[in-house]
Amino acid sequence: MSTSEQLKKLHDRFVVPTYAPDLLLVKGRGTKVWDAEGRSYLDFLAGIAVTNLGHGHPRLLRAIRQQSRKLMHVSNLFYNELQPKLAEALSQRSLGGKCFFCNSGAEANEALIKLARLWGQDQGRYEIITMRNSFHGRTLATLTATGQDKVKKGFAPLPEGFTYANFNDLDSVRQAISDKTAAILVEAVQGEGGIRPGRPDFIKGLETLCRQKNILLFCDEVQCGIGRTGHWFGYQRYGIMPDAIAMAKGLGGGFPIGAIATAPQVADVLQTGSHATTFGGTPLACAAALAVIDAIEAEGLLANASRMGDLFMEKLKQVAAKYAFIREVRGAGLMIGLVLNQPAKPLELWLRKQGVIALATAETVLRFLPPLTVRANEIRKAAKAVDHACAAWVAEAERPGPDDETARFKHLRLNAE
Ligand SMILES: *Cc1c(COP(=O)(O)O)cnc(C)c1O
Repeated sequence: MSTSEQLKKLHDRFVVPTYAPDLLLVKGRGTKVWDAEGRSYLDFLAGIAVTNLGHGHPRLLRAIRQQSRKLMHVSNLFYNELQPKLAEALSQRSLGGKCFFCNSGAEANEALIKLARLWGQDQGRYEIITMRNSFHGRTLATLTATGQDKVKKGFAPLPEGFTYANFNDLDSVRQAISDKTAAILVEAVQGEGGIRPGRPDFIKGLETLCRQKNILLFCDEVQCGIGRTGHWFGYQRYGIMPDAIAMAKGLGGGFPIGAIATAPQVADVLQTGSHATTFGGTPLACAAALAVIDAIEAEGLLANASRMGDLFMEKLKQVAAKYAFIREVRGAGLMIGLVLNQPAKPLELWLRKQGVIALATAETVLRFLPPLTVRANEIRKAAKAVDHACAAWVAEAERPGPDDETARFKHLRLNAE
């Protein structure tokens, strides 16, 4: 048995099967990763929008190495040298208020939910409106906030106080508002829900609605934040000012850290004793996040994300024009989805054979989230690989198999709407 087969066996025996991995990756550099057999791949997933600087970025490695030698963790019972600096950096690039640090996207959204409840309690407001097809995490409260039934199955009873509206449909949000509504939580660009950018009139309309009705507006920036769309945060594409945002994924470039950033008017709602987390904002995590912010600025990665996003979008549209089973290419910056007329998982696997890693999401969407450091030649290579993967898929579907009916059916699905 090969080492990788042994490891997979060990994994299956001792790791709870909440995921179903199939590829063993052992090292990475820049946009490239290698599997245990020595095959290399272009990593156009970046650990789901996490390794935004690519793999092994020198600035991030140096920051982690130096800080780990100096001080890793002291708890939030003490000041540390880096947490205030990171809070300042995030505040200056977002809403101008204060930050709370945690460890994940779900935990950041939990903090927003608790903030909304504390803020609204005197007025009897506690309901939070979220969007259908949204994704906010897997804790009990955040899976309840998530607008998808599949993450809720089997976990009843769910916490109360969540209502749902249709994304990009302002009327549906208006109808969901009651005198108990405390906040609206929205992704400016839905990620897991299939890379759906918010329409400008919708996102701006939410802000107006919230101001009129005295409701808090929260943006879940866990996937579309930290430069992903060519702006520090996805909401900034729309020129709005939410009351608070949640972030995580790309913030530490691979080192786990989450945060909320608030606007001044709600910066002191969460008070001493009202919320806490042991690992939140350790010197080590903050060193990693500060290095990510430095690198994004020093290397012009916001502009690169816009430019490379435009280039990839253009190239993918050329590919899409050749294949009837591709319905649409959509996204913002380096958050791009190829929308198919059928499940996208097979294309994910065909693309893998062409040496590119991407991820099927929302059933029919192939999602691309390359690092913000991605280069034009890598974009062109990946687009070519998508073309080849599509061609290989069609060729296989057209080859008459043992069951000719199935083959003909597959052929029809791939070549016609
Ligand atoms: C991934 C994601 C989350 C959950 O983040 P975790 O770190 O997995 O808890 C929340 N919101 C959005 C938009 C996400 O993409």
